[in-house]
Amino acid sequence: MVAGPTYDALLRDTAVALTAAGIDNVRFEARLLLGHAAGLSIEQLVARGRDPAPADVTAAMRELTGRRVRREPMAYILGEREFWGLLFKVSPAVLVPRPDSETLIEAALDLLPERERPLRILDLGVGSGCLLLTLLREYPKATGVGVDASPEALAIAGENAGMLGVASRARLMVDDWRQAGWTDRLGGPFDLLVSNPPYIETSTIAALMPEVANHEPRLALDGGPDGLEAYRIIAAAAPTLITAGGWALVEGGEGQAIDISGIFASVGMSPLAPRKDLAGVERVVASQH
Ligand code: GLN
Repeated sequence: MVAGPTYDALLRDTAVALTAAGIDNVRFEARLLLGHAAGLSIEQLVARGRDPAPADVTAAMRELTGRRVRREPMAYILGEREFWGLLFKVSPAVLVPRPDSETLIEAALDLLPERERPLRILDLGVGSGCLLLTLLREYPKATGVGVDASPEALAIAGENAGMLGVASRARLMVDDWRQAGWTDRLGGPFDLLVSNPPYIETSTIAALMPEVANHEPRLALDGGPDGLEAYRIIAAAAPTLITAGGWALVEGGEGQAIDISGIFASVGMSPLAPRKDLAGVERVVASQH
């Protein structure tokens, strides 16, 4: 039998294929994919570089590389993504957690510094749960409601709640803010409302990176013709959902903070100056009731 390619050869082949697909950081991604395919750490891969890879690893690597060449997000291929130092399971049913959204967690911790408060938290469009479940970890006496229109997303959020040890404090429910009466079913009021709603203008989705445009759930991206539809719905409900003195913290896209602030001000909430992410983009609008 002819020996198959070595681990190093698989890495090289993958890096070449990823480069041809227009991907950056190809050596890094190739190592992650090979580690995943082989069930080996990066250190083990280096140590075994010149060994021939078993046939099943070679086959798995070809499959994973093909998925990445079609610009499937790494997080979906690996099945997980780190957020706020915590590991979240992800699938194509949920938006991939992004470092930008950690800005919202920072804002919450600044505005509500008392960690032992039994806060009641609501996450609209909970997705993987990265916002709600991280907050439940940071506020050990808090309870939360996470709503999503996608049952598949909620299943992922439920798994993450279990993995992070906060399932007993999280109620995850399918509902849809486009349906009448949705606010009555949540069991409010809440001290803190958080949301990373869909905020991409419908007509610009197709021009986003292929990872986003072709693979992430449209429900989590499409903010309507001007990208602001979800904020209007959330803001309209906010005064009834949030206690007096409570907060609404929403993530937005580049250039949207002024409009989002205006939308929350128009329902009688008091928006603070937007909080910037690490790239300097005004990312989070916090409004007090
Ligand atoms: N942050 C996502 C992006 O960069 C959009 C997520 C959203 O619409 N909430 O494309």
